[in-house]
Amino acid sequence: MADRQCLLLQADYKAALSEKRQLMQEFGAHEMVSQFDALLGRLQKSSPEGEDISISYLNGVADELKAAMADLGVSAERLNSFRVVTTLREAVSAQMTPFDDGSGLVIVDDGVFAVCSAYSYYATLRTTRWASLQNLRESRKSGMYGNAGVLANALRYVTTHQRLLGIVTQLDVRLGPRGVLTAGWLTHCAHRFIIAHEVAHHVLGHSSAVNSFIPGEHVPPCSDSEQQERDADRLAFQATRRASAMGSGRLPARMYEDMNEMGAMIAILALYLAEQAFFVRRGCTHPPASTRAAWLLDELKGGKRRAMQTMLRIPIEATETAAEISEGAHPFSWEALRSTPVRSHMPQSHLEAISWLDALQCWSEPEHVDMLVHPNRDSARWLGEGALLAVERNAAGALRRWGVSEIDIDRLCDPRRALTFFKLKEDLARSFTRQGIGDDLVLPYSVAAAMLAAPRLRV
Ligand SMILES: [Zn+2]
Repeated sequence: MADRQCLLLQADYKAALSEKRQLMQEFGAHEMVSQFDALLGRLQKSSPEGEDISISYLNGVADELKAAMADLGVSAERLNSFRVVTTLREAVSAQMTPFDDGSGLVIVDDGVFAVCSAYSYYATLRTTRWASLQNLRESRKSGMYGNAGVLANALRYVTTHQRLLGIVTQLDVRLGPRGVLTAGWLTHCAHRFIIAHEVAHHVLGHSSAVNSFIPGEHVPPCSDSEQQERDADRLAFQATRRASAMGSGRLPARMYEDMNEMGAMIAILALYLAEQAFFVRRGCTHPPASTRAAWLLDELKGGKRRAMQTMLRIPIEATETAAEISEGAHPFSWEALRSTPVRSHMPQSHLEAISWLDALQCWSEPEHVDMLVHPNRDSARWLGEGALLAVERNAAGALRRWGVSEIDIDRLCDPRRALTFFKLKEDLARSFTRQGIGDDLVLPYSVAAAMLAAPRLRV
């Protein structure tokens, strides 16, 4: 069954890619569309004939993990019954879905992978800062290595795009050729750890309840069981360490080992941030990042543990800052990145739009209400009436007043279903467009309405 579901999701991924392109176009991000097209062109060229590059990449990671886990004594039967797939629109961060026939499917959100990459580039910049005099000068000027704000901004850029626009993207970091290679390996280690944790649930036979929505499928096993989560993390760590040792031919073994440990930490922080920023309701959650990081630190020896604790100080602080989306948060600021080696190919207007959108979602609740109660057109009184219903904790009533269909309201309000912020915002935007709200106002109004509804839809 995992095979069949995997094929369905792969097809869905291709459809979602063209949907993303459409979204970028609608947002007027033409540079992003050309970059996206160029990237797709390059990927198609570099992949083996007939196979999508993301599929070959995931299959490669799965093969590494299978070899490493087999080496650790895991049965071939368990190792041959899982598949891995990425998604752009399922409401998951990373999960293993088990099926009745004993097979399992690991699904990872593309946005989570992008967050891993943002951490990895920053970590590489930090460790290779001596490599370029210009980088060093810029980094001294901005004080970026003692300053969690730089990483927090780079992370907010990724999460704001995904949460409000449904677009997976990130900022560039100026690195030399060696730096790019290092960042690539580190990103790979982080991705591999995320997949390994889910595969570990499968091979450890962690059971789960039957899924009431899809017969034959079970609810993902990432759960409240702290022991199961810890066991999955431990096996994932052992397996990725073994995979690094087996595949370290091109890099000094010690370096690969360090990268593996850092990659695992990045994976934990990235999942935590994505689960905080992307979701209104999370179906399958991982334990808090601090708990999981402490488990992994326990696996390291004294000196290494202390070094890792020091390395993690800024990423942990930046993660907390980036995860905060409320009044008093620090929204994305391109200005704050000006004198750093962080770059963007996007025009100034796009960067300003992202700053503004992030600031908008961090407005106070009365400010969101005010925006909808006093819309630019008198005939849109229903916007303000919906806002007041939301504040009165009547989420379904608010959605109805805002014109969302009954079927969509049921889905948005069902506490058993995971819900992303983007899905909520999109349903509202579609309804606002249908009711004649002008193109330039649909986005801010739907963000404000979604911010009001989200806390009432949480369980
Ligand atoms: Zn888990």
